[in-house]
Amino acid sequence: MADYKYYEWTKPQWESLLAKPEGLHHAMLLAGPAGVGKSAFAEALAARLLCEKVESPTAFACGHCDACHWFATGNHPDIRKVSLEKDDEAENETDTETEGKRTTGGKKTAAKATQIRIDQIRELEEFIFVGSHRHGNRVAVIDPADLMNTPAANSLLKILEEPPSNTYFILVSSRWRVLLPTLRSRCRQLLFALPEQDVGVAWLADQGVSDPKIKLSLAGGAPLRVLTLSGKENGSTVEPVLAPLDQSAVDPLGLAALWHSLLRSNDNLTLESLVDTLQKWLYDLIRVKLNAHPKYMINKMPLLSNITKKADLSKLTRCYGDLLKIRMVANHPLNTLLFLEDLAARYATAVAGSRS
Ligand SMILES: [Zn+2]
Repeated sequence: MADYKYYEWTKPQWESLLAKPEGLHHAMLLAGPAGVGKSAFAEALAARLLCEKVESPTAFACGHCDACHWFATGNHPDIRKVSLEKDDEAENETDTETEGKRTTGGKKTAAKATQIRIDQIRELEEFIFVGSHRHGNRVAVIDPADLMNTPAANSLLKILEEPPSNTYFILVSSRWRVLLPTLRSRCRQLLFALPEQDVGVAWLADQGVSDPKIKLSLAGGAPLRVLTLSGKENGSTVEPVLAPLDQSAVDPLGLAALWHSLLRSNDNLTLESLVDTLQKWLYDLIRVKLNAHPKYMINKMPLLSNITKKADLSKLTRCYGDLLKIRMVANHPLNTLLFLEDLAARYATAVAGSRS
């Protein structure tokens, strides 16, 4: 039986929400940076709302009743989770391109949609108006809510304007400011911040993460990002990203094209992990420039040293700062190739030295 709990640092949000459960708003927006535990919180909250033997208002789902068993096995009839679907159908309705892995070597790989579409919200509507199977609460989780396209968001807005009773909508978003203001105003907004550094470091150390302090700062202070990123960090995704950097001059467009084809051919590589690798690379360039040993790419000392001979410390530092910001959108850029070209251009500037 799975436990549905929040991460300890999100306890204040939980208690403020559930101290008076009778006053629980029918729509809640869990907003805050990626990697701080909003999705786990949403899951715990959904389980809590469906549990039929809750011991106290702020208790977790009991984990033992019928409802909890169904929830754990994904069979509870009164919850719907709306997220990005894996499919490769092109939809005319979408605002932007549907980007995905292309076919390689005759192997067909399903693309992951980049938006939550209106048909998904229509299905949700049907679910909501059918009535609860257990005569209790019904829960809809929309995660990430900011990826609803405009028709989908408008459709949800209509549902929220006349909400059915005993139905709770939990919207999760790390880019909540892009949500329709009318939609946001229909929700009780619950803000999640980055945990204090020592809390995040202690938690990572508990998970057996080495160098938690450095990795936490590389992940922008978001503990869960450290885990998702380090989970994908292996030779097959790091080496190919860095391989084209082994040149005296960097051609940004060529570099971006190379990364783009890598992303399409290597299923383990994501845009996020690519940015992460580049960020670690820059981190090490800065360290070597400061006559310290590299922290991550310890087998690349000769190349790092070679690049830093002409690279300018302030430019490297600026690029590193840029990457911290870029990472926030690396999950869902509107156009992957443009994103990569921007990334490659920043890197090329950083290592070009003072002459450019
Ligand atoms: Zn239960």
